[in-house]
Amino acid sequence: MRYETDKPAVLTLTAGPVNAYDAVLRALSRPVQYDYDPAFQLAYARTADKAREAMRTERVPVIMHGEPVLGLEAAAASLITADDTVLNLASGVYGKGFGYWAARHTANILEIEVPYNESIPVEAVEAMLNQHPEISVVSVCHHDTPSGTINPIEEIGNVVSVHGALLIVDAVSSFGGMDTNPESCQAAVYVTGPNKCLGAPPGLTLLGVSERAWEKMRANPAAPRASFMSILDWEHAAEPDKDFPFTPSVAEMNGLDRALELYLSEGPERVWERHALTAAACRAGVQALGLELWAADETIASPTTTAVRTPDGIDESQMRACARERYGVVFSAGRGETLGKLTRIGHMGPTAHPVHALSAIVALGGALRQLGSDVKAGDGVDAALAVIEQSAA
Ligand SMILES: *Cc1c(COP(=O)(O)O)cnc(C)c1O
Repeated sequence: MRYETDKPAVLTLTAGPVNAYDAVLRALSRPVQYDYDPAFQLAYARTADKAREAMRTERVPVIMHGEPVLGLEAAAASLITADDTVLNLASGVYGKGFGYWAARHTANILEIEVPYNESIPVEAVEAMLNQHPEISVVSVCHHDTPSGTINPIEEIGNVVSVHGALLIVDAVSSFGGMDTNPESCQAAVYVTGPNKCLGAPPGLTLLGVSERAWEKMRANPAAPRASFMSILDWEHAAEPDKDFPFTPSVAEMNGLDRALELYLSEGPERVWERHALTAAACRAGVQALGLELWAADETIASPTTTAVRTPDGIDESQMRACARERYGVVFSAGRGETLGKLTRIGHMGPTAHPVHALSAIVALGGALRQLGSDVKAGDGVDAALAVIEQSAA
């Protein structure tokens, strides 16, 4: 069943981009300032400092002016040279995809790939590093969103650091929704953005860059310079007396600033708690409906996205179409390898609230019933409520 509708969605419970917070939308509509106006330069510096506080780093993060794929490609292009041996860790579509970017810059690529419902075992990384002392860069995706699974990046960061290699982390869909930051995983380059758990639109990248990574990029003659993909060009952009290499995304910066303010004023720990609770309620509800989680083990299921295995005999796209048409609820499909095999309920930023877990269970259960399945929608709701009630007790 295809659906063509111009009716707006009632609830967008996707794994990103997500509906932005209302306050962020209002900030986007502020007058567009001239980028060389000292007031804008000062505002830019302040926003970058809020990002530093949110990312719990010493060093001011780099803001790049395109959605996080820009930062990921830029990290590969800036950090990886033909002399490097890269160990790419692939537990899903994004992790796998980073290996292709890495391969543009060096012929020496090693990979650990696990089934896309599992996570990377740290022992395998350690063994590979011992076997290949020449590994100089390791790349990993923290939350591989099309699988809704989490990799143990802090443990991976430890073994990579002991080995002396540089770690590139894609934390786009985990940062802001759980306890993660560039320093806790000892990342050389940590890539994230506002369009997932910070509840702002897609359009910017936030990069945590370590001192060693800066040194390596500066010494790399092939690292992009005078380019949209350059990290080096933006090194000093947050210093109010320095010029921007080109015009920053002024409106997006206003949105990011507000999103960071919301995050910091609510308190990161409380924000993570509401993501974790919403996810726990979703997982309980999904299982009580009689469905299976995609993650091989519940302990690796993401607190920011719940991926549900498509039940036998159900056409996944039809199921999402029913949820969209009858209930106005938009879920995410899988991507690449996971397309058709699972449905993703996002709980990121504004949708990381337990009431949305209930809406998700109702829309999912209702859509499956519409397709002739005998799921117990009421059991799903009861199980989700029980998780919410327990956390309030
Ligand atoms: C969303 C996301 C990105 C950004 O990429 P898009 O595919 O353009 O949305 C990168 N990495 C991960 C893990 C993401 O979830």
